[in-house]
Amino acid sequence: MTTTIWWIRRDLRLHDNPALHAALKNADVIIPLFIIDPMFEKSAFVGEKRLAFLYSNLSQLDQDLRQRGGRLVIRRGLPATVLTQICEQADVKTIYAQEDLSNYAVERDASIARHLPLVLTGGLTTHPVQSIRKLDGSPYTVYTPFSKSWKKLPLPDRSSLLPAPEQIAVPDSITSEKLPTKPSLSDEIPFPPGEKEAQRRLSSFLDDRAIDYEENRNRMDLDGTSALSPYFRFGLLSPRQAVISALDALQRAEIENAKAGIQTWINELIWREFFISILANFPEVSKTSYRKDLRSIQWQNHPDEFEAWTLGLTGYPVVDAGMRQLQTIGWMHNRARMIVASFLVKDLLIDWRWGERWFMQNLIDGDPAANNGGWQWTAGTGTDAAPYFRIFNPILQSKKFDPEGRYIRRWVPELTALPDRYIHTPWEMTKEQERQFGIKIGVDYPHPLVDHQFARQRTMDAYKRARGAIS
Ligand code: FAD
Repeated sequence: MTTTIWWIRRDLRLHDNPALHAALKNADVIIPLFIIDPMFEKSAFVGEKRLAFLYSNLSQLDQDLRQRGGRLVIRRGLPATVLTQICEQADVKTIYAQEDLSNYAVERDASIARHLPLVLTGGLTTHPVQSIRKLDGSPYTVYTPFSKSWKKLPLPDRSSLLPAPEQIAVPDSITSEKLPTKPSLSDEIPFPPGEKEAQRRLSSFLDDRAIDYEENRNRMDLDGTSALSPYFRFGLLSPRQAVISALDALQRAEIENAKAGIQTWINELIWREFFISILANFPEVSKTSYRKDLRSIQWQNHPDEFEAWTLGLTGYPVVDAGMRQLQTIGWMHNRARMIVASFLVKDLLIDWRWGERWFMQNLIDGDPAANNGGWQWTAGTGTDAAPYFRIFNPILQSKKFDPEGRYIRRWVPELTALPDRYIHTPWEMTKEQERQFGIKIGVDYPHPLVDHQFARQRTMDAYKRARGAIS
């Protein structure tokens, strides 16, 4: 009897899963194994909400496996130690795992593969990111040519998606520790676990909302995006399947709006893969700016200003709304992420790595590649980043992408009674108006932490100094 291990890491799904498929194809029985690595639980980059989402998904995966005659095997410990034990105990022929390209995973897997029969499969991205390279073999550092090259590669059709197995046999001799239940997912978190939920969201988005994606995706007050990022983060949905479904929807679409929406959405999926490629090819970006000329910016790094930002108490309603949305549900709209990140880096002149870390601690979808890419893009220090002199004006952003202040009112309830005129700039109210609307600025809600125009100039000077443009 041949036994293989399906070592589950960021592929918590049964549909279109190359690692699971390979493990089953080459064995009579498989061990679906999830290892709770103490490094992960202790990491300063992992927060409670993401752990809770992961654990609730493990429990759902266990149920899905049981419906097929199998079960999930949970073990705590260092992956190399756990795998060695199980390989010896069950005489395992091969360990199959989906490739993960974060720095820690790459090193861990390389070290394990030196001693154990580890085979890595695709599945993290639509195309293997290392296959998308310039003609001279070097990796792309700019999104547009990366995406052109990505689009030229042949896409598999729906019939080539790997079906979920009907039966999974797991050897009785392999015991499991208890499924972790703490931290648990709170009711406030609007991301129910499971790959079924991921499939439901994909269909609902492509059937109903993709049509307006082009127009609504930047509006923080609307549910204009797919809200699938936590599911991609843990591989509850295969990116290949998402792309194929989007292309199917594109073929069905009759009006231009719908076509444009779906095409833009596919471009976002490619951004995800672009940042995975950047981190895989330039692992140093996880520690420092990609741009060497911007590595010596003199940050202000005031801890009290950082704390105000984390608490959503900067006095800029749109920034505070984003930060409180993050605190409450562990997710934030993409436009809000850009606004709050720009505010931290370019208004408060705080090192982008402080923000990157806070996001990783608080986001359910916290992903080393996308998060680092998003922060370095906003800070202007990354590969294909916004130019450093492009500094978001939080007031204009707020007026444009939350025109009636609905997003602000939802997350900053103390401002609910304010009329639209002051919702973006409450500090402009007179004392009389404050009395009229029942709020005291400076008491019930803070004054702005910094003047945007002053901050803008300060940042331009700091960046220019770093680039050696002024002494
Ligand atoms: P949709 O608009 O429906 O897009 C579909 C999918 O495409 C997303 O689920 C996501 O997987 C991918 N995607 C979309 N935009 C981007 C992008 N700019 N970069 C990479 N992938 C993208 N995304 C994460 O998944 N994890 C993070 O830790 C993360 N940190 C970010 C930090 C900053 C400062 C910024 C500016 C962006 C960050 N993003 C991150 C990207 C983006 O904000 C989220 O992917 C998006 O908001 C998720 O919402 P959605 O699923 O509704 O996206």
